[in-house]
This record gives sequence, C-alpha cells and structure tokens, in this order.
Amino acid sequence: MKRAVFPGSFDPFTIGHHDIVCRGLRIFDEIIIGIGVNSDKHYTFPLETRLSEIQKIYADQPRVKVTSYDCLTIDFAAEQQAQFILRGIRTVKDFEYERELADINHRLSGIETVLLYSAPQYSMISSTMLRDLYRYGKDISPYLPQTK
Ligand code: ADP
Repeated sequence: MKRAVFPGSFDPFTIGHHDIVCRGLRIFDEIIIGIGVNSDKHYTFPLETRLSEIQKIYADQPRVKVTSYDCLTIDFAAEQQAQFILRGIRTVKDFEYERELADINHRLSGIETVLLYSAPQYSMISSTMLRDLYRYGKDISPYLPQTK
C-alpha cells in the first residue's frame, strides 16, 4: 500500500491543490490531506471550515482522507504510516523552498518527497492570491473545487 501525506495550510484549498491530489491518486493508493496547524500563524479561514470543505470535496473518494495536525510533517507522516510526502511546485521560487523541505525531511526521517508540477492552467493560483481577493470582497468560488 503506497500512502502519501499531502501537507499544507490550505487557507483555502484551491483547484490547484485539488489537481495535485487527483494526479497523486494515479501514483499512490491513498492520500492523506493534512492541514498543518501552526499556533503562531493567523489563518483567514477557520480550521473547522477548511476541514469540512475539503472533506466534502472527497466525500465520494475513499482513497482520500482529510485531517489536521499540530506537529512536524515527518512525525505526522510516521503517525499516518505514510512512506511519501506529496507536494506541488509552480515556480522556481516554490522549487527552492520545496527542495529545502524535502532535503531536511529526508535527512531527519528518510521519507521521500514526491513533487508534481502544477498544471499550466493552475500555476498562477495560490491561496495567498485568493485570500487577497476574498478580503476585498471578490468571488473566489471559480478557484475552489466544486462540491455537490
Ligand atoms: P504551505 O503553507 O505548506 O506552503 P499551501 O497550502 O500553500 O501550503 O500549499 C500546499 C502545497 O501545494 C505546496 O507544495 C504548494 O507548493 C502546492 N500548491 C499550492 N498551489 C498550487 C497550485 N496552484 N498548483 C500546484 N501546487 C500548488
């Protein structure tokens, strides 16, 4: 059983994140989406909202689980018995950051990180951009995965 955790803030969870999960399901048997909780960080969308929204998206997909965690990602992965960390990259800037994370996580625990390039049509979508639009009253629903 190949299991990956997909960690992030997901503030909010976008169609770019959703695309990474859908493509990741071709590689992994199970993906556990982990919403990282950092008490020093301020979030725009409450944790409970993010959890329930993401759970709704994958309600019909038994190979995707959603939970939150308040520890190092490597400890979360070990707890979930996941052999992989799944992440996405859009830009060179993401690449540098993701490389550092992957290196340190591998050094600390031996876990492998699998990086997927964002689909070109989603490469400009970021949670940061959506939070800005939301703050100024714009409709962000076109950038959020559809729920039934
Ligand atoms: P974090 O706060 O840990 O960076 P995010 O919620 O911003 O978490 O992102 C989680 C992961 O999804 C990161 O690897 C990020 O690079 C990736 N990601 C974010 N937006 C996109 C997108 N539009 N396409 C592909 N990957 C993305």
